[in-house]
Formats: sequence, structure tokens, C-alpha cells
Amino acid sequence: MEGRSKLEVELFRELGFIRKKCERCGSYFWTLNPDAKYCGGQPCVDYTFIGNPPSTITNVDRRIIRGEFLKFMEKEGHTIIKRYPVVARWRDDVYLVGASIYDFQPWVTNGIIPPPANPLTISQPCIRLTDIDNVGRSGRHLTEFEMMAHHAFNYPNRGVRIYWMDRTVELAFYFLTDVLGIPKEKVFFKEDWWSGGGNAGECFEVHVDGLEVATLVFMHYVERNGRLEEMENQIVDTGYGLERLVWLCNGTVTVYDAIFPNFIEDLRKVIGLETINVDVAKRVFSVAGRYDAKELGTIKYYSVLAKALNMDEEELIRMISPWESIYVLADHSRSLIFMLGDGVVPSNVGAGYLARLLIRRAYRALLRLGVDLSLADIVALELKEVLNDFPEYRDISDAILDMIQEEEKKYRQTLRKGRALIERRAKRLRQYKKDSFSLDDLIEFYDSHGLDPHFVKEEAEKYGIKVIIPEDFYAKLAERHQALQPKVKKAKISLDERLLSHLPPTRLLYYENPKLFEFKAKVLRTFERYLVLDATAFYPEGGGQPSDKGTIVTTDGKIVKVIDVQKVGNIVVHVLERKINIPPGTVVIGKVDVDRRLALMRSHTATHILLGAAKRVLGHHVWQAGASKGVERSHLDITHYKSISRDELDRIELLANKVVMDNRAVNVQIMPRDKAESKYGFTLYQGGIVPGKNIRVVEIENWDVQACGGTHCEHTGEIGLIKIIKADRIQDGVIRLEFTVGESAIKYIQHEEELLKNVAETLRSPVDKVYDALRKLKIRERNLRNELMRLKKLYIHVMSKNILSSMIRIRNYDILVKSVDLSRGDAITLAEEVAKNNPNAVVVLMGIEHENAIYLIVRLGDNAMKTLDARAIASKIASIIGGRAGGSRFFAQGGGITKIPIDEIVNKALDVVRSCIATT
Ligand SMILES: [Zn+2]
Ligand SMILES: [Zn+2]
Repeated sequence: MEGRSKLEVELFRELGFIRKKCERCGSYFWTLNPDAKYCGGQPCVDYTFIGNPPSTITNVDRRIIRGEFLKFMEKEGHTIIKRYPVVARWRDDVYLVGASIYDFQPWVTNGIIPPPANPLTISQPCIRLTDIDNVGRSGRHLTEFEMMAHHAFNYPNRGVRIYWMDRTVELAFYFLTDVLGIPKEKVFFKEDWWSGGGNAGECFEVHVDGLEVATLVFMHYVERNGRLEEMENQIVDTGYGLERLVWLCNGTVTVYDAIFPNFIEDLRKVIGLETINVDVAKRVFSVAGRYDAKELGTIKYYSVLAKALNMDEEELIRMISPWESIYVLADHSRSLIFMLGDGVVPSNVGAGYLARLLIRRAYRALLRLGVDLSLADIVALELKEVLNDFPEYRDISDAILDMIQEEEKKYRQTLRKGRALIERRAKRLRQYKKDSFSLDDLIEFYDSHGLDPHFVKEEAEKYGIKVIIPEDFYAKLAERHQALQPKVKKAKISLDERLLSHLPPTRLLYYENPKLFEFKAKVLRTFERYLVLDATAFYPEGGGQPSDKGTIVTTDGKIVKVIDVQKVGNIVVHVLERKINIPPGTVVIGKVDVDRRLALMRSHTATHILLGAAKRVLGHHVWQAGASKGVERSHLDITHYKSISRDELDRIELLANKVVMDNRAVNVQIMPRDKAESKYGFTLYQGGIVPGKNIRVVEIENWDVQACGGTHCEHTGEIGLIKIIKADRIQDGVIRLEFTVGESAIKYIQHEEELLKNVAETLRSPVDKVYDALRKLKIRERNLRNELMRLKKLYIHVMSKNILSSMIRIRNYDILVKSVDLSRGDAITLAEEVAKNNPNAVVVLMGIEHENAIYLIVRLGDNAMKTLDARAIASKIASIIGGRAGGSRFFAQGGGITKIPIDEIVNKALDVVRSCIATT
């Protein structure tokens, strides 16, 4: 492979490192130990630090190691950078930050913007779900971890050379040996090759006592057409596993025991579990990491492990399975705190899906432990720890626990429904003589019904259905949902973009003066119905704000309407109502539809205000999930985990209108991306990513700051009024607030008032008493209805007595065929009454349902039904009127559409009954 050569650095020469070839895996590695045969990493060697930490500093926690690392790197010339959120809002290719370099992709790594400092050091919390199935088992896998790093960004073309391999290896080596006090001969550097995200380069894996504690990557290739080319930039990308270093220095049985001591002890006490047998656990976990549970499958994993340990398999499982659950709970709780704390709301899409997956796995672990605690109680245990180092989560703590509680409630309901569903599906399978659910079934159970495969297995086995769960089930699910689908931008207008080449960027007058509505500009080009000017005050559609409309007036007085405006690259294209030919260079006048634009500006500024109000009322977990600004109606979609109460909605509306009344200034400025990010944080990116080096920042004084390209009011008072119309849950975890502003809001309220006045007039009540009047009316209506029912019953009873006189007796049947002026329901009651009191009755009732629609009822008495069938009689009568009928032996009904007079049908029906009797 290209670029793979002997990686000798200054330090190795200076201290006399030896380059060796691992006798197990064949990799080259550097060591000071002349007897070393193996590369120093798993699976080539076992852990030797458990119970025997190699460092001089021990009994450490994350804070100590993180502090030592950053302090050391700072002393060595690095600037300490604040960590980024775990939700990668500045990127459109991933949801979550999986490594410290993600913070600087793509803007810094592409060289578009300078790094926040150079060289820099950071400890970045990361989320990775690729090894989720190994969490709790291997003793070392985590879904949340901090990647400590020092990065140097070299731009040799610009003469920027910070440092490269020599210095990087030196920093790693002296941090481990001088700061942590690890003996020099225990530090192994294994040569390797790294590639990812289209970049590649050599790397060193740094191992101590069998544990990989750091990776030092030298990124300097870019992959183009399957070939590696030298990059312009050379980036030192290092990653030190904070949790692994804490583990190494503590020498505990697992990484979990090293980093979650308080959580584990608290939970162990609640469960009443004995402390782990350290000798056995030490034996188990020093080899457990050698095997991949994900690859082997649970059952095989345990038998392989038991054999390797020379232990009884059942005893092994009994001993370690409660610990697995505890470790899973510790790890998942911490991941969830970071994810929810940084703005993920559990749902069935995107990052929300990943959060829900963690919640449900954690809940299952809790069920396995059989303790009487809620998942929110468990997460609270870890939250207490997290807050010590990340006090920024204090404001959102309640919301995190509330979200977990809501999810837990939902999941319990899901499981209840799931039991019934699995029973149905299992029974159906058995009917088809099948006896197992497939992987597709399992994925469908999870994705459509929220049922995890272990639950499905447990339930299905009750009905003798087999279920085989792939060991990397969750990793597979996470993989499917981890990568964002690249958004394909739909072109709003179809034009040959070559027509626009060579044209200069349009001067954007709507930014220079948002209240410029009439302007002069030079025509650069016309083609079909499209017009390009050198400057324009027409706002093109973008950022959820529709385009302006208006007119173009030519010097010879021609007026043509502008019906749409779109931005193509940095050129604004006006779409005209009809084709027009204006020679390039001609000056025209543009007139923007003022009312429309002002309404859109009010809506847009109101959207920002409402978001700020929703955050203050509902909590800091609220993010914008979408927005659309209209002239009459607009909407703002926000992330929220439950429905919004009427009271909350009122509070949001009131708060928003207070901001309007405050008449706060709306400031717009263009800022370098890194400055804006460090000043305002990532809440800037409410409307999604904004590309480029400089971003346009819209700030409503002390209320809301967003990166936004829209046009805004200069002061909030210009909005006049914000009226929320309704709030709907449009998808899991997303609420849509529909609202109207300014003139439209007044009209909306007037219309509502009008409706109320009409209601009051109809009720003959003053408007303020309308509710009482309506309630009284409802009570009266109910009483009347009850009275009517009583009378109807009485009427039918009396009628059933009178009707007997129309009965005719044929053989031993009492026949009653009659048309009645009753509803179908009442006619059925009447037929019942007659048949109940007369076992020989053959009752046929008919009536008009509406217009030409006739209904038909046949009811037989207990004796009559022994020899006759109501269905046969009803069907024959129905066929006379071209209709159908059905029912049971003693009762059938039907109907049809006919023009035949009902009396005539009655006569024919009587004939039908006669002929039926004749055949008995
Ligand atoms: Zn090896
Ligand atoms: Zn905006």
C-alpha cells in the first residue's frame, strides 16, 4: 500500500527504540523492550494491568486524567479548546460526533476557515454505537467516551508548519511516561494505516500492557478516483481514550469499574448484589476482551469464554450477567445524558431514533435486574456525576429526566401491546405450519412496533416459535440510522446553468437595505421567462421564507409581473409572468410588493421570537425542526417529547407578545463562522447548516440568535401581534405551532370573534354568557332526548299490540308483512317485540330510509325459525327491489333502491312469504 513505510521518528532514534515484527499478527511495532515478541495490543497479548496498574499515579477519575492531559498539552504550547456538543449540527453527513476531528470537519480540514487555535488540545465527548452489543461484556466497550486530543493543522503552501510526526510521538510518549509515570519499556508504538472520510495517512497505535490507549494519525492523503494524492493540508489527528487511561491507572477489573465507581456501588446496594469476586472477575475480564461477543453470538461467546477460563458455563453466566446489566445501565445512562443534554429528543427518526434505542436497551437491562427503580432514577444517579464536570447540563437536567420518564411510559405501553401482537402473529405462523420468525420479522417488530428482539424471543417461545437474534442486531439498526441521507436539493426552476456562467454575482440590495422596495438595476441577461439583473431588492426563496413578488417596469413603460425569485449559486434569477426581451445594459425599475414583503418579514422575525419563547416555557431541549413563513399563516416546528398543554401554549404566546411589545432591536451582522460559534454557541444552527466561511447572524436583543439568511423587521414592535392558532404533533418528538402575525393576526381574531357573536345571537345570549347558555342548552337537549327515548319505547310497545290485528294466519304461522313509518332501528325494536310475544310469528317490516332507498327486516319467532330461514326470505324480497340482505336464521335485514311504490312491494313480499311456507 502506498505511504506504508518504516515510520521512524526522532524519539525512536534518540532513545534506541527497536522496530520489530509481531509474531502473532505480523505488524511492525516499536519498543524499548528487546525481549518483546508481540505488538502489545489485543488480541496478540492479554491485559496485564488489571490489579497491577503500570502508572505511578493511581486511584484517579476522569477529571484528574483530563486535567493532567490538558495541562501537559497547554504547557507544551497547545491552546485548550472548549468541547463541542455531541450533536454535530455543523455537519450534514452525520448526526453525532464520533471523534474529536469531527469538530473541525469540514470547514477547518478543508482549509476554508482557520482552526480556533493551532496547535490545539481538547477533550471531546463522543458517541459511537458500532460496538453497542459488546457494551458490558468485553469490559472495555463504551457508547460514550471522551476523546482527548492534540491537533496540529499544517498548511505548507502558506508556510504554516506547526509540527508533524516527531513532535507528535514525543508528546504522546512523555505524557504517558512523565505525567502518568508509566515505565518507558511498557509503551509500544504499532505502525498502522488509517483512512476515513476520504482522507488517509500513516498512524501509530499506542499500547500499554495490552491496552490501546491512543492513536496518532498523520492525515496527508486525499482519495481521488481510487488513488491517493498528497493533500495540501497536513493534519495531526490524535485520539487518547480518557476512560481507558483512567482504567489503566486504576487497574480495575473492567473499564466500567474504573469510571463509574459511585454509580455501580449505589446500584449494587439497591439490588442487594454481593460485590464482584475480584479474583474470578479478574480472570474473566483479562481474557473476555479477546473474544468478540458480537461476532461469536451470545451462547457461543459464553461457552468459548468458559472453556478458556476452565469454568462451568452456567456458573459463569450466573456470576457475570447481573454485572453486564449494571455496566450497560451505567454506560447508556451517560450516553443519554450527553445526547439529550445536547438537544436530541427521542423519536423514531435520525438521532432521536438512536436515543430511543439506548433508552429501550437500558430499560431491558433494568427489567433483567428486576429492581423496583425507574430508568429515570437510574439516569439520575449518573447525572449527579456528570454535572460535576459538565455543569452546563444543570438547566436541562429536569427535561432530561422527564424525557426518559415519558419514553419509559411509552415503552411499557408498547410492550403491553407487543405481547398481544406477538401472540397473534405466532398463532398465525403455526397455522401456516411455520415455527420461526425471520430477521426481517425482527426488524419489522423493532422499527414498526418498537419491540426489541429479546422481548420478541421471550414472548414467541411461549407459543413454540423459535427466534434467532443476530448478535450485532443493535449495531445493525444503529448503522442503518446513523448516517444521514444526503439531502438532494430540488431545483426550484429548471434552467440551463450554463446560461448563467460568466455573469457576476448579483448585488443583494435586500440585505443592504431591507426596506428598499423600489430600485433601478441594469439588465444582464434575459432568456425565456427569466431575468438577471446586476442588483436586486427582490428576496429569493430561502430559509423557509417565500420569494418576493412585484413588477419590473421598463423605460418604455412596459410592466411585467415578477411571479417568483430564486437564487442559483450567487446569482438571483427573476421568474417573469411572460417572456420578455430586454437588451443587456438596459436599466429597469423593480417594484417589490411591499405588503407581501412586510408580512413575510414580520412572520420571519416572529418565528425567531416564538422559538425563544418555546425554549423558555418548555425547556432547553427545544430546537427548531423546520419552519415556513407565509403571508397569512406560518408555522414553526419544534422538538418536544410530549404534547403541549393549553396553558403552556398560552404562556408561549404571551411571552412572545411581550417581546413584541418590548420593541427589541433585531441586529444583523456578517461574522466569521468560528467567531460566531464561540460567541453564541451551536444554537445558532436552528435552521440547519449554513455553508461558508462567514455567516449571517440575526440577533434579537437578549432573546434569540440564529444564523439566518432571511429578511427581518428592524424592531420587534413592527410585528404588531403574534397569535398562535394551534399546536399539533406532526411526528414523534416534533410539534408544529401554527401562527399568524400582524394584520392577518388581527383579521384572524376578528373572524373568531364574529363566529362567537353569531353563536351568541343564535343562543340569544350576551357574548360573555355564551358558555353558560350553551351548557344549559346541552342539559336541556339531553333531558329532551331521554324523554323522547322513553316515549318512543312506549309508542313501539303500544304499536306492537295494535299491529297484531293485521296478522294473518297461514297453517300454523302468524304472518305480519307491513310497511311502517319508523326508522330502521325502531322497526327492529318493533319486530323484536312482536316476535318475542309470538313464537309462531313471521314478521316482515319495510320502511323508507330516504328517497328511493327501502329497508327490509325479517324476524322469526322461536317456533317459526325451526322451519323457516329469515335469510332466505329476506334475500328473496330484496331481489324484488334489486338489493341484498343478510343475517342469521331468525333475523335478517337488507334493502335496495327502487322506484316501485312500497305498497306494491309489501304485496309481493307477502307472496314471497306464502311461497316459502308452501315449501316447508
Ligand atoms: Zn500483534
Ligand atoms: Zn430565520
